[in-house]
Parts: sequence; C-alpha cells; structure tokens
Amino acid sequence: MAYFSIENLSIRFGGVKAVNNVSFSVEKNEIFSIIGPNGSGKTTIFNLISGIYRPDQGTITLEGENMVGKTPDRIAKKGIARTFQNIELFANATVMDNLMLGRHIHMKTGIFGGAFMFGKRSRAAREEVVHREKVEQIIDFLELQSVRDQFVGSLAYGKRKLVEVGRALALEPKVMLLDEPSAGMNTEEKDELTLWIKDIREDYNITILLIEHDMNMIMGISDRVFAMNQGQKIILGPPQEVQRHPEVIKAYLGEEEIS
Ligand code: ADP
Ligand code: MG
Repeated sequence: MAYFSIENLSIRFGGVKAVNNVSFSVEKNEIFSIIGPNGSGKTTIFNLISGIYRPDQGTITLEGENMVGKTPDRIAKKGIARTFQNIELFANATVMDNLMLGRHIHMKTGIFGGAFMFGKRSRAAREEVVHREKVEQIIDFLELQSVRDQFVGSLAYGKRKLVEVGRALALEPKVMLLDEPSAGMNTEEKDELTLWIKDIREDYNITILLIEHDMNMIMGISDRVFAMNQGQKIILGPPQEVQRHPEVIKAYLGEEEIS
C-alpha cells in the first residue's frame, strides 16, 4: 500500500481541464516535487489534496484512507498541512501568534480566549504552555528568534514565506505541501530553505510534496519529480531524467527559470 497517493484525479473549471486524470504515489519521507509551466495545474492539485476543491473524479489516500469529501479542517487534522503560493498569514499578528494559530487544531480549549475561560483556567493555561514550547522549538529550528515578536506584515517576503513553513510545521503534519516556498527569496535564502526542507524531512519525519519553479532547488532536493503540462503528466522519475526529457524542455521553453 502506498503511503500517500492520488489516483485518476480530475477537475475542470468550465472548459479548462485543470487537472486531467493525474495519478502518483509518494513514499513515506520522500521529497516529491511537482513542476510544470504556469497554469499547468500544480496548485490545483494542492487545492484538491487539502480539500479546498472537490475532484470531479479520483481518490486521494493517506495511509489507505480516502481524503476526498472531507473538509479542509478534517484533512489538516488527518495530518496534511500546506503553505500557499500567495502567503496567507495574519499580517497584523506576530510571528509567534501566527505559529500558535498553526497549532489550533491540536488545542482543546480554543485559540487565545481559552486560557481565560472561567473554571478551565489552569487546564487551558497548562495546554497553552505545551503549545508555546512546541512553537518555540520551531522558531529555534527555523532561526526566527530575532523576529518572533514582530508583526508578520513588517517582514521581508522571504522571511514571511519561512514563517508560513513554520506555521505548517506547527500542525505536526505527516505530509507537508509546499507551494513555491522559494518565490521571492534570494540565493542565500533559497540555499537555507533547501537545508531546512531536508531537515524537516529528517528531524520531523515528514513527507514533503513540493511545487517549485527554481530548477537548481528541484535538482538539489527532490527524490523524484513529477512534471506536468496542461493538467496532465509528462513524466515522473528521478530529477536528472525529468530535467532532460524533451517534453519537459519544450514545456519550459520561453520560461527563464529552467537552466
Ligand atoms: P499552476 O499552479 O500550475 O500555475 P493552477 O493549478 O493554478 O496552475 O491553474 C491551472 C488551471 O486551472 C489554470 O488554467 C487556472 O486558470 C485554472 N483554475 C484554477 N483554479 C481555478 C478556479 N477556481 N476557477 C477557474 N479556473 C481555475
Ligand atoms: Mg501555482
């Protein structure tokens, strides 16, 4: 049985077959990358996996359990966390608070108000301490100490992207979906992100699905690469093999990112 898989997945928007009969399986602890030109259906696959869209056809299974039809919240609880192509953080909250929000699905007593609820104060407060410790570990891990009390809206784009990774990590997921996490980062930040993603796999035992445009990063990080165009698979294989596939090269012609 595959650890995580999608099978015959399809969705159309009007006349556009955004995802057209896509199947793949991902091993536990794999770093599995999805590449393809803009509009090829990559983000839509993530939206299907995380339950934002419901497929017209197909299944999505984690450890044998079908996720199709579950709400996004339920799917997150099952252990699938994601980041967004366009950052979705609370700009007017601190880094710490944004990461605490990532933990809300593990909280019994509510997000912020819980600690002050009459009669439940001590239990909620104790729970809060545990969650804060988890979040502090992530802040240490991603080296965000210097910005932990800053508003997310005041941070540089690359840092905000990293906070979003931290928030997904705060869910303690089994599978993490990263949608173009290196967008807007400089070379140094990209190199750091590459190391962090590898560490997330090692230290946190997380399986990673990565949508990425940066070919250097793809080549340096992926166990396998799924290349797609116009909603369909081109090829699935080791990075070097995918990179030299004629259809992949053709699909990327005119896109500067490929090297
Ligand atoms: P990628 O992430 O590979 O750049 P997307 O998955 O965002 O591509 O988009 C794939 C196709 O699906 C595009 O043609 C896009 O316009 C279309 N699409 C995605 N979401 C919607 C939606 N909610 N409504 C209509 N069309 C959509
Ligand atoms: Mg996209």
